[in-house]
Parts: sequence; structure tokens; C-alpha cells
Amino acid sequence: MNAKAKLTVLFHRDEIDAMVGKLAGNISREYRTKHPVLIGVLKGSFIFMADLIRQLDFPLEVDFIRLSSYGPGTTSAGKVRVEHALRNPIKGRNVLVIEDIVDTGITINFLLDLLRQEQPASLKLCALTDKPSRRQVPVNIDFRGFTVPDKFIVGYGLDCNEQFRNLPDICVLED
Ligand code: 5GP
Ligand code: MG
Repeated sequence: MNAKAKLTVLFHRDEIDAMVGKLAGNISREYRTKHPVLIGVLKGSFIFMADLIRQLDFPLEVDFIRLSSYGPGTTSAGKVRVEHALRNPIKGRNVLVIEDIVDTGITINFLLDLLRQEQPASLKLCALTDKPSRRQVPVNIDFRGFTVPDKFIVGYGLDCNEQFRNLPDICVLED
């Protein structure tokens, strides 16, 4: 851990709890009878996914996909690769993708195009955070949590060089 890192709380754990509850309510209304597959984008979404699904009181399945879009540090390489594929086919299923953050939109666009080729019955996106000021490609976020400023955020699953995922709050990493 970088001893010089300065962290400022942006969203306290209580605010995150409330937001996860709100998103869970909206997702429940839409998916209660649809037996969806929730696909978490690793690694950043794992804590959000864990909290979210425990507030969804209906049949669902969980899968994960791992993409890499960023090299080390905090700048986008602009390239996306699948590093860990889905376990089960999603053809004909109602699919909800769970993301930690939509920044330029390049990663999620790549993923949604990829999943669409598998012919799911429906395909929607839930993102806990959204950084619209940095968008390079348009993205439709069906279930949106917090809008964040153009700062690098960590905590609640989000990392910087694999550090800080375990922070219970979402913090700005000041440089
Ligand atoms: P995008 O392709 O939309 O630019 O970025 C996608 C990925 O970059 C996110 O899923 C996330 O892993 C990473 N990312 C973008 N902005 C941030 C940020 O502020 N903090 C952290 N920790 N990761 C970010
Ligand atoms: Mg991500």
C-alpha cells in the first residue's frame, strides 16, 4: 500500500447501502419473474454483486466475466480483452450485466456487443457508478447508481494497482 496515498470519502458505506437497496428495488420490479442471469464484471464488481444479490428475493443465477481494459496505473489503454469467459450459455436468457463503473464506456460497449452475439432474450446494464464526463462512446445504463466526478475512485471493490478494494467506502484517490 502506498503510504503517501491520500483518500477522501466520496460515498460513505451508509450511502452505498441505501443506493444498493434502491437499485435492488428497481431490479426486482423488472426481473422478479424473469429468472435472470446476473453477470458481474471482475474484479471491480464483486462486492457490489455480493451486496446486491442478497437484496434480490427471487430466482436468479450469477456468472462472472473478466476483462482487462486498463494497464497498470490509472490511465486507460483503450483495449479490451476477455481473460475469463462465462461458464454457461446465455442464449435465450434475460441477462443483467453488473459493473462497478462506466468511464469511457469502451469496456462495457465491447462486453455488451460480445454478449449480444450470444442472443440473450434481453440484455441490460446496471452500473454502481458512472463517470459521464469521460465518456468516449455512448452507453445506455438501465440501472444507474452514483454519478461521480472526473476523479479516480477506489474502495468497495474498486482498485488502484490491486490496492484499496477492501475499503468499505468509495473514496477519491488524490494524487
Ligand atoms: P472504461 O472502459 O469505461 O473507460 O473503464 C472501464 C474500467 O476501468 C472500469 O470497469 C474500471 O475497472 C476501470 N476504471 C475506470 N474509472 C475508474 C476509477 O475511477 N476507479 C477505478 N478503480 N477504476 C476505474
Ligand atoms: Mg469494471
